[in-house]
Amino acid sequence: MALRFHVHTYGCQMNVHDSQKVANLLHHEGMEQADDAGDADLLVINTCSIREKAEHRLYSDLGRLREWKRERPGRVLGVGGCVAQQEGDAVLRRFPHLDFVFGTHNLRLVPALVAAARDGTRATRVDETRSLDRFDLPERHPGFESGSPGRAFVTVMEGCDMFCSFCIVPRTRGREISRPANGILDEARALADAGVVELTLLGQTVNAYGRHDVRRGRTETVGTLAFAELLTALDAIPGVSRLRYTSPHPIFFDEALIRAHAELERLCPHVHLPLQSGSDRVLERMRRRYTADDFRRLADRLHAARPDLVLTSDLIVGFPGETEADFEHTLAVVRDVDLVDAYTFKYSPRPGTAAEDLPDSVAPEVAQERLERLQSQVRDQTLAYHRGRVGGTTEVLLLGASRRDTGALSGRDPQHRVVNLAAPPSGDAAPGTLLPVEIVDATPHSLIGLARPSAGPEDSLRDGLRLADEPRRMPAVA
Ligand code: SF4
Repeated sequence: MALRFHVHTYGCQMNVHDSQKVANLLHHEGMEQADDAGDADLLVINTCSIREKAEHRLYSDLGRLREWKRERPGRVLGVGGCVAQQEGDAVLRRFPHLDFVFGTHNLRLVPALVAAARDGTRATRVDETRSLDRFDLPERHPGFESGSPGRAFVTVMEGCDMFCSFCIVPRTRGREISRPANGILDEARALADAGVVELTLLGQTVNAYGRHDVRRGRTETVGTLAFAELLTALDAIPGVSRLRYTSPHPIFFDEALIRAHAELERLCPHVHLPLQSGSDRVLERMRRRYTADDFRRLADRLHAARPDLVLTSDLIVGFPGETEADFEHTLAVVRDVDLVDAYTFKYSPRPGTAAEDLPDSVAPEVAQERLERLQSQVRDQTLAYHRGRVGGTTEVLLLGASRRDTGALSGRDPQHRVVNLAAPPSGDAAPGTLLPVEIVDATPHSLIGLARPSAGPEDSLRDGLRLADEPRRMPAVA
């Protein structure tokens, strides 16, 4: 009987995609996916270290999994991702029932680590590499299911050279490296042939793609492109109806990328643009390399290029030294750039980052109060935006049952808002298909829509509204 595996994922979209790559590799080894750990012979936990909580959750999970191992002899347990990359052998030593640990550059080794574990050898592989081999992964196996019909991630670059003072990613994901364009385009064509209609390009600073090669005049030898050129090439692939990218860094928007938002038909009118803080003083301590006004100008240029474009963001409150006035600057930028939604966090120091030992920490109750005020403002802006969409039309990529409203179908519109359908669509609209929808109501979390009988000429992506209901998954940070 085939070995059954389950991959459990913490953290951002990059981790979700890494888990998909591991699952696909295991399918190619003849294994089958189990719906949960209880049913699996092999459990892989893909970890995140961006927030302290995720790290603690891993250690408590590993403690509980002693029993899981005991229940069925021969079971194999592995840990990968950012905590694995940082802690390496220490995790293996701390948990004797753990069989293997693999780092963020070593996904390809998982099948060999599983085989070794089944022969009784425990191992850690967290070597960092500059090699492009890590992008060389097999095509989707026929047995692989992404769990997200009609959509797929495509990795275009990995790592980060920015070293923001609060962020551990450059240490867990390594230095910035861009994937040759041919591999990206081949993967996109294969996905489109397999029925995928929406591609999301992934990278820690995705719009930095190719920049080092462009600057050094070596794009031809390495096979990369400028990011806007890559988008243009992907936009021309038949079958791809929607293109997205996440997460961009504000300083890597050049004229060509702004123009791409005006000109590329399939490039969705949504940019997740991390702001982090609206105070120049705090931005400097964070080493973000832009000012609040730079961010405002960028937002204006994007909105001018594509008037229906929606901006969402990541925001941190309570960074060391943040005063009430600094925090109010953040509220002002959130309002000025019309943010429609945001992931909001209270700062927590991460070991090994430059901000770890910064003085002037903000009292927890002050940080909590600021977080609540920020969330309240963001909620108001989300609802106002959603209400403004009522009466309009959009195109929804159907994804499946809504989590909030049992029985209702849900999907995402071009602006990446959740749209829940108030009634089942007529005909055979299945998850993974695009559906013309009229927006009839709005909540703080989603738009409510009714499927339209057929697409009229005005139902192009340019009219797009938006949707909402999968778990809120952090974008790959920038
Ligand atoms: S926040 Fe983004 S840009 Fe800054 S170091 Fe982390 S991954 Fe890099």
